Amino acid sequence: IKSRRIMPYKVILSISINHHVYCALVDINDYFPAYRHILKGFNMHSPTILVTGGAGYIGSHTCIELLNAGFYVLVIDNLQNSSEESLKRVADITGKSVTFIKGDVRDKELMKEIFSENKIAATIHFAGLKAVGESCAMPLEYYDNNINSTLVLCQAMEKAGSKNLVFSSSATVYGDPETLPLTENMPLSATNPYGRSKLIIEEMLRDLPESDKLKKTDNPWSVALLRYFNPVGAHESGSIGEDPSDIPNNLMPFITQTAVGRRTELSIFGSDYDTVDGTGVRDYIHVVDLARGHLKAVQKLLSKESIEGVQAYNLGTGNGISVLEMVKAFAEVNNVKVPYKLVERRPGDVAACYADATRAKMELDWEAGMSLDDMVRDSWNWQ
Ligand code: NAD
Ligand code: UDP
Repeated sequence: IKSRRIMPYKVILSISINHHVYCALVDINDYFPAYRHILKGFNMHSPTILVTGGAGYIGSHTCIELLNAGFYVLVIDNLQNSSEESLKRVADITGKSVTFIKGDVRDKELMKEIFSENKIAATIHFAGLKAVGESCAMPLEYYDNNINSTLVLCQAMEKAGSKNLVFSSSATVYGDPETLPLTENMPLSATNPYGRSKLIIEEMLRDLPESDKLKKTDNPWSVALLRYFNPVGAHESGSIGEDPSDIPNNLMPFITQTAVGRRTELSIFGSDYDTVDGTGVRDYIHVVDLARGHLKAVQKLLSKESIEGVQAYNLGTGNGISVLEMVKAFAEVNNVKVPYKLVERRPGDVAACYADATRAKMELDWEAGMSLDDMVRDSWNWQ
């Protein structure tokens, strides 16, 4: 039976053992070995997690953690900022494969079909656009992609009664912080369209538990808003990581491309901030730690002590690292040169931003375990 839009083909497989015939409805995926789908046919107990944007940087690392923890993973991605190669590499790393659907989360019919054809235990919503500068140049595309995708997704989830959601938010929702470290209940604001799209989505999601109360539903929403600080690094295998096709916006890809000789020097934006050495301070977090935070959030949503309504969690290390400290660590650990020059501040930058991640530790049993050395080593290994 070929399903209308979804990649896997369902076939009936029958095998005969000692005169007993066993039948199973299995998915044959075009790209990955079929064994996982065959197992799925015989054993329906492994919960399915839908990962939107799962072929991307953070999504692909999260797929590894989910597969290793025994979940069945369904990815939807339109590949506008990624390629299917990352999912093949996820399969190589884990020895297990995800089911991949090439499509757009804003496609209502497709989302309805995904939720009607699969029993989805929880959804992690990574899909979206993420470049601050680009969002200032094309705000409507950012509002369309980020907000509409979440709206369509949540409508499909509600219709299917599948109401466990992990949402990719960002420390950018704290705007220009007044006090540090940042806790989840500090004031929220936006300084650019990208940040505003995240803030609007957070607010939209916070309306859902209220509707549950009015409807007196016995199947309420459980939503984890994960506010990431500055993700860096890559899987230790060196086979998946962040691959910006354009000139990078973020510090780490700029450092790695300078070290490898693709760029002549790094411009350090601002050396007169009120920080340890005058350069900007951020809370850099290894992407594998971040991926593990998603696994913990999913496990929390599926546990007896699930989240009631909506809860925000900071995912950061709690340590502030300056640009100069990062450049120094990168050069020392990897034994490479990173030529740099000190230039004017970048408009819109804040002096310092780092997390208080106590709530994630207390409620999700998660804390970042990887060091600055791990971050710079794995970033270089991937480059
Ligand atoms: P990414 O671009 O590598 O991954 C996003 C994925 O979503 C891509 O594979 C892209 O093809 C896909 N996508 C985009 N729009 C889609 C749509 N409408 N339908 C289907 N697929 C779509 O980005 P990432 O760094 O992995 O970020 C993932 C999420 O985390 C984003 O929502 C981003 O805003 C958020 N986030 C990222 C950072 C960061 O520094 N990387 C920091 C804070 C928050
Ligand atoms: N930064 C820099 N040179 C670059 C890119 C970034 O000096 O080429 C600085 C930036 O000013 C900030 C820090 O590095 O202090 C982190 O910037 P990034 O864009 O990676 O993250 P964000 O500012 O979004 O937290």
